[in-house]
Amino acid sequence: MVKNPNHYWTEFLQPTHEAAMHRAAAVNPIRYAKTRNFLDGGVTGLSPYLTHGLVTLPEVLRLVLQRESLGIDHKLVYEFGWREFYRHVWTHAGNGIFRSLHEGPLDETVYKKELPHDVRHADTGIPVIDEAIRTLYDTGTLHNHARMWLASYLVHIRKVHWRVGADWLVAHLLDGDLASNHLSWQWVAGTGSHKPYLFNAENVARYAPAQWHSPQSVIDKSYDELDDIARSAKSYDGLVKKSSYDKEQGSDEPAVSSTPPSDLTWCKPGAADLELITGRDVWLVHPWALRQPPADLSANTLVLGVYLQDHHDEWPWSDTRWRWVDAAMSAVAPHRWLLSVDDLTVALKKATRVRSIDDHHVHDLLDKLAELEPMPSLFAPVARRCSSFTTWWKQATRGLTQAEELLKNI
Ligand SMILES: Cc1cc2nc3c(=O)[nH]c(=O)nc-3n(C[C@H](O)[C@H](O)[C@H](O)COP(=O)(O)OP(=O)(O)OC[C@H]3O[C@@H](n4cnc5c(N)ncnc54)[C@H](O)[C@@H]3O)c2cc1C
Repeated sequence: MVKNPNHYWTEFLQPTHEAAMHRAAAVNPIRYAKTRNFLDGGVTGLSPYLTHGLVTLPEVLRLVLQRESLGIDHKLVYEFGWREFYRHVWTHAGNGIFRSLHEGPLDETVYKKELPHDVRHADTGIPVIDEAIRTLYDTGTLHNHARMWLASYLVHIRKVHWRVGADWLVAHLLDGDLASNHLSWQWVAGTGSHKPYLFNAENVARYAPAQWHSPQSVIDKSYDELDDIARSAKSYDGLVKKSSYDKEQGSDEPAVSSTPPSDLTWCKPGAADLELITGRDVWLVHPWALRQPPADLSANTLVLGVYLQDHHDEWPWSDTRWRWVDAAMSAVAPHRWLLSVDDLTVALKKATRVRSIDDHHVHDLLDKLAELEPMPSLFAPVARRCSSFTTWWKQATRGLTQAEELLKNI
């Protein structure tokens, strides 16, 4: 049974800029570096805020540095780098990120194109996997290590295509970001990295609480054995050895939808709504830029929240994600419309000027409709496409020794 996921974010992850800044100010970089791989480690929990543009990496780093000076190679700065590296790949590869970047350990045709029923229902019998899925469904969040375990199990043991897993996971995550998510799946699958990412029961026992431990299950093997499994076309569906895991039977998958929940106050605009735009400047707020509008807006500016149906038809969200995003959007944009790009194009013809903030998720949809201002990034842009994080990192941090230096030109 799915618990009430909205309880989790209303309690712990309030969708406001202030909550994000509060979290950033509380980051303890020393603890982060020591414990980030542990499920109960000192991670920041900032990803939903970063994904949805409530806060930017430069803002976060500035706050962190008030507490502690950091070298450029500090683990936290490095992880911020992964986020921007994946953006770098998206910029260069475009929709190519939704296909395997290169060959993986096996031919693509080996992998299943559907999520197995027991996985969808958190009923594999393997504690680490079922706990991960239930955490995802119950909270809309999941620790990085658990994401890696889940992805590795699905791709290398169950032989599910990484794209199937990526599409499923991204719909349920509050921080679902098409670059970080889909490229992380490719990194685990070995289609975006040199080798498949593998994990075993011993690794889980080290980093996760006891109820996640999975002795005598299919993952209780040596790394050599797991590597053989990853490179063999055989799926381990029928061979999953259930451990003596004592849990409730399964979990329902929360529904995903391409429209926001009907009890929220968004609308599909009618003629009277469209009239609001006539003769006015418009500041568009979209789900990846849920910030307060800039101070220099003209007095007659309409601040308008938009959900672009074209995007959501392709990428539906869980109820939890919709509610989180809509709560943040309603704080800056009292009017929130769900409409197609074609309808928005017609509506905006009556505006005097249209501005917004750029983001890859909506760039192609808004590019011709609005003046798009860049979301501040932390690292200097790297012009040439880098196929590995290491190459990108070297170029993005060339000549820098301290994290402070990243903020100099921002
Ligand atoms: C299969 C899989 C799917 C993922 N999907 C997403 C996703 O949809 N959205 C998303 O933001 N991250 C994704 N990640 C990356 C990472 O798991 C999350 O960013 C992290 O768990 C968020 O928690 P946090 O904010 O406490 O991270 P922290 O460890 O506190 O890190 C601080 C910030 O650095 C960035 N960061 C840290 N680790 C990574 C990483 N490995 N890759 C990219 N950025 C990173 C994030 O912006 C994060 O908020 C995915 C990873 C995997 C393995």
